[in-house]
Amino acid sequence: MSGELAPPTNSLSVDRAFVCDDCGHCWYYDRHRCSECAGQSFSTYELDTGEVIAKTTVEMTPPDIRSPNYLGLARFDGVQVIAQLADDAVSVGDTVEFAGEHQLRAEQRTEKPRLTAVEGQAD
Ligand SMILES: [Zn+2]
Repeated sequence: MSGELAPPTNSLSVDRAFVCDDCGHCWYYDRHRCSECAGQSFSTYELDTGEVIAKTTVEMTPPDIRSPNYLGLARFDGVQVIAQLADDAVSVGDTVEFAGEHQLRAEQRTEKPRLTAVEGQAD
């Protein structure tokens, strides 16, 4: 034990997912126990690249949110994630990673918020 408190899970980088220490179940969105075995011991791991399996465009968005807003569902190792796409050029089947930087409001900088196509991907 290092004696350091783990950071609050809501401050995790967007490119990290959770894995249950007891049963190996993986999930992405913040949750304090495993949905499979109810275990409360888990680790995080970094998401590498994923594949876009669906996308949609939201035209009507709240204030401060870009319009149109391109959203994608991407399959990563162990989890599926809904996230903003960098732009409309990202298509179903593309290999993507979290990249870029976004600042919605002062003091609310988010790193790697969007799914961005990986350069040089094999077809
Ligand atoms: Zn579990």
